[in-house]
Amino acid sequence: MNLEDLPIRADLRGKTPYGAPQIDVPVRLNTNENPYPPSPALVADLAAEVAAQAGELNRYPDRDALALRADLAAYLGHGLTTERVWAANGSNEVLQQILQAFGGHGRTAVGFEPSYSMHPIITTGTSTEWIGASREDDFSLDAGKAVAAIEEHRPDIVFLTSPNNPTGTALPLATIEAVLSAAPGMVVVDEAYAEFARTGTPSALALLPDHPRLIVTRTMSKAFAMAGTRLGYLAAHPAVVEALLLVRLPYHLSTITQTAARVALRHRAELLGTVDTLRRERDDTVAWLRGKGLVVADSDANFVLFGRFPDRRAVWEALLERGVLIREVGPPEWLRVSIGTGDEMAAFRAALEGVL
Ligand code: PMP
Repeated sequence: MNLEDLPIRADLRGKTPYGAPQIDVPVRLNTNENPYPPSPALVADLAAEVAAQAGELNRYPDRDALALRADLAAYLGHGLTTERVWAANGSNEVLQQILQAFGGHGRTAVGFEPSYSMHPIITTGTSTEWIGASREDDFSLDAGKAVAAIEEHRPDIVFLTSPNNPTGTALPLATIEAVLSAAPGMVVVDEAYAEFARTGTPSALALLPDHPRLIVTRTMSKAFAMAGTRLGYLAAHPAVVEALLLVRLPYHLSTITQTAARVALRHRAELLGTVDTLRRERDDTVAWLRGKGLVVADSDANFVLFGRFPDRRAVWEALLERGVLIREVGPPEWLRVSIGTGDEMAAFRAALEGVL
């Protein structure tokens, strides 16, 4: 039997699943992970905490993850409290819950492309209609055009991604405010890469007090170097969190997940200590690529989009042959490299020199 033989939903027929290749190569720079593994001290603390919880795994976890949400609120600052923070298995699940509560059949979501490929996938997966609007040639967002797109489509949900994946572009608060004023429904600002922004780039968290329909999503997968833990979270008005309780599965965050995330937050000085190193490595990578005569998008994230290659597949493959895995994503002719350790970036540069 094949997939086509199953009575699958009509709107899922012919779709392809999310699929960043997971290939075992020496230098993996393709999914925007943090290259620095947790320290032995963090691993030991985590093992001890998990061991302490293990004897109670016959019981369900705290359904509302109150202690974790309090810790996340304290980390975010901005006067946030437990009732304004929500957490789930990766920000992807957070986004799915937002779509389940505020999207659905007969509703629409607008996003500005190129952007994170999971936004349209989660949107259509919840039977919400996806409307792709566009960015400028330099990947910035023209506030006037964004407002015009919102006025034309009157979407139930607007996605803004800042810094944007795969381009690295951060949005000025004025653009987000313009979108908030025009949007008839919810506005999601996906800040998965917020901690990597260049200094002075403000977070949309600052806008929450005046905008009850704003949702800011974050993750521990990138800056916190905890992609394997699967912990994403959001900050919003308490009523938004109440809406999400209607669609979340009971006990969606395992005891182990909640524990691991809390341990990581306790060790945040160490984990976030890698962010400065990665920022410097990113800025050096941008400068080096430009020095090679390539076109490079300004980046506020832990990755860099560069081009332009009439046959980008050939460049991607030639790098892979040299043991360096990057990502073939974004507009045609561009490639994206995640920022790794100094050694990994040296390997990337050597491999790319061999290819150019
Ligand atoms: N948002 C953006 C913009 C991303 O790039 C990613 C990860 N690639 C996510 C959300 C999801 O991350 P996670 O589910 O690991 O929190």
